[in-house]
Amino acid sequence: MELKTEAVVLRAANYKESDMLLTLYSLNDGKITAKISGVKKANAKLKFCTQPFCFAEFMLSKRGDFHTVTNAACIDMFYQDADINKIYAGFTALEIVSNLGGGENKDRFYQLVNFLKELKYGEVNYLTLLNSFLLNFLKSEGYGIFSANCPVCGKKIEDRVKFDFESAAFFCFDCNEQGTEIRRETYLTFEKFSNNNFDVTEKGNIGLLKLLDFYITEKLNFNIKSLSELLKLSFGLK
Ligand SMILES: [Zn+2]
Repeated sequence: MELKTEAVVLRAANYKESDMLLTLYSLNDGKITAKISGVKKANAKLKFCTQPFCFAEFMLSKRGDFHTVTNAACIDMFYQDADINKIYAGFTALEIVSNLGGGENKDRFYQLVNFLKELKYGEVNYLTLLNSFLLNFLKSEGYGIFSANCPVCGKKIEDRVKFDFESAAFFCFDCNEQGTEIRRETYLTFEKFSNNNFDVTEKGNIGLLKLLDFYITEKLNFNIKSLSELLKLSFGLK
């Protein structure tokens, strides 16, 4: 069966002597693996497809669960000319999609493509874009963190703040025993994102990314290596 779909290349791995296996996030089928033949030669026509972040229209032939790329037309190469921090931000998105994005979901597909577009062409700070993407993606996967008053006393959180990974909620310091204390600025930054106010500081953005990094590790049991690298290399955080 022949099928045509837009897709973003998440990963490319060597396969046999001259072939590669692409992990694609496709509009029509979600995450799929597809073999692509003869792309290792320098002048191979479809070589561009083996770049992570490549966004293209793919022609695939499908036999059972096995896909083979028969042709592709490049729509955009999001990777090109990006600085190293933006590349880590982009890889963070590819990693979370690769771990969570299972079957077909057009909303998630467009979330990813729009994020990569904004990262390359937009004016908004890349850390702000990344936090916004992660918060929305987690929400659409059923792991959203919600803005609300303290679940115990029902009051607005005024002073010191704790975040509880299990319930994905914020509490007053004295209302929760098991949570981890976080900076108030991180909490206020989260609140701004919840209200679609993206006027946030770099410190607030980094605090929130660190919180999301911990949250994903604790709650979803996988580690986003590119996010850890971004925090470590760019901001000296472990
Ligand atoms: Zn409380």
